[in-house]
Amino acid sequence: MSDTSTPDILADIQPLKAKPKPGKLFINGEFVDAQDGKTFNTHYPATANVITQIAEAGTEDVDRAVKAARAAFSEGSPWRKMNAVDRTRCLLKLAELMRANAEELSELETLDTGKPIFESSKFDVPQAAECFEYYAGWVTKITGETIPVSKGGDAFAYTLREPIGVCGQIIPWNFPLQMLSWKVAPALACGNTVVLKPAEQTPLTALRFAELTLEAGIPPGVFNVITGGGATGAALVEHEDVDKIAFTGSVETGKSIMRAASKTLKRVSLELGGKSPNLIFADSDLETAAKYALGGIFFNQGEMCTAGSRIFVEESGYDQFMSVLTSRAQKMVAGDPLHPKTRLGSLISEEHLNNVLNYVDIGKKEGAIVTTGGERIGTKGYFMKPTVLEGVTNSMRVAQEEIFGPVASVIRFKDAEEALREANNSQFGLAASIWTRDIKKAHKLARSLKAGTVWINTISTTDNALPFGGYKDSGFGRELGKSAIDLYTETKSVWVDLN
Ligand code: NAP
Ligand code: MG
Repeated sequence: MSDTSTPDILADIQPLKAKPKPGKLFINGEFVDAQDGKTFNTHYPATANVITQIAEAGTEDVDRAVKAARAAFSEGSPWRKMNAVDRTRCLLKLAELMRANAEELSELETLDTGKPIFESSKFDVPQAAECFEYYAGWVTKITGETIPVSKGGDAFAYTLREPIGVCGQIIPWNFPLQMLSWKVAPALACGNTVVLKPAEQTPLTALRFAELTLEAGIPPGVFNVITGGGATGAALVEHEDVDKIAFTGSVETGKSIMRAASKTLKRVSLELGGKSPNLIFADSDLETAAKYALGGIFFNQGEMCTAGSRIFVEESGYDQFMSVLTSRAQKMVAGDPLHPKTRLGSLISEEHLNNVLNYVDIGKKEGAIVTTGGERIGTKGYFMKPTVLEGVTNSMRVAQEEIFGPVASVIRFKDAEEALREANNSQFGLAASIWTRDIKKAHKLARSLKAGTVWINTISTTDNALPFGGYKDSGFGRELGKSAIDLYTETKSVWVDLN
């Protein structure tokens, strides 16, 4: 493994397209300071260097943003009057601008998160642009229905699909621009207005995106960004003039949001954590299964809600699978995330790194064996070796709790019945994977697994057209696909008496 006492980014990797400037709040189409002038720092996790200062929105700022979003949603506003074809054009233009500025957006994403530029440029940014392209296509296809009613004699009844109104959207730090796109694209496609709160650690791409919304012709006030921490998010949830909250983040915060949103009966959709099982059967292509399992847990440093973090392996294929998994985990190249060859970046923060390392200790105390990894890399930044824990049983904390880092917990199983029972024995239900050549077994398991997404002979892939979301504590509501149109519209029934 390369030495990852990372070089000073600006000295080593020149020139960057991105020149991060101090971040302000984006309200009503303008960049403004917080009313009380408060700011916080955002860091490059790979060096812990401060990138720039960001305005911290207080309650008054949140109120300003919500008022702007409300005004932009008012009857007769430019946004409400805009026809569907023009709204399509706005979203397509936004996607085009994201692609035109892809290099800069990728650098900003990597600077803020510490994820490899390979990932930001090949996945995060293009997939976010594609999400806007996908929902641009929906704008002209959001329709109601005519419905034959049986009561009241002669009648004509139909439904209208209407935007909900002002949507508060709160997103985490692991895929900032992608999470933005999953929420903002369908909300705007349906004609809503948005107040977005990015995670405190990762505000940069949302602020650059905000500039692009103006260039794309989105009217002022339709899209607003309030930067800040948990208190800023809480103020948005508490605000009585917000109609809907869409949230991606931890279970704990999701619960507190639901409680707070109940006071004003806001619509709520939640995408929360996971502890996804990856079931490896001995009859699968074990080499491919191991390669994909590696991506399933170590992509994005394991900071993935869908991470295949519980790897269940059938006894008779165990040794073969594990030798590939372990040897490849040891070869992953950690390094400066801005370097194109880096495949393993920095975790988001020292606090998070320590949490993840602490889980390795918990695992050891529970009787797990660290086959590879288990340690921090270098002293600069927050790098960690890809870690494989063997001898895990499903009741251990390292198998039940979301670690959200590069730690795979490997559990042996004897047969499909046992694998299914243990896989479903979890508070979470976000995703699951099955590796087998037996079609019947695969489809039967897919039916029985309690998870919002089941992958067969693949892992961790999503598509804008396919609904995404969780069972159990992984949340509710389905983002992406046509499902997100349901999340961002109200259905109105209209009944006309023709007697
Ligand atoms: P988090 O602490 O729950 O934060 C998520 C967002 O909520 C951040 O913007 C955060 O602000 C904000 N927030 C914090 N407290 C709040 C409150 N009381 N009211 C309103 N907003 C509040 O989650 P995280 O630790 O940053 O992110 C990792 C978690 O996200 C993991 O559990 C992961 O599984 C989950 N996740 C789920 C999905 C999915 O699609 N299901 C996708 C990605 C991540 P600050 O960060 O600024 O404090
Ligand atoms: Mg957080």
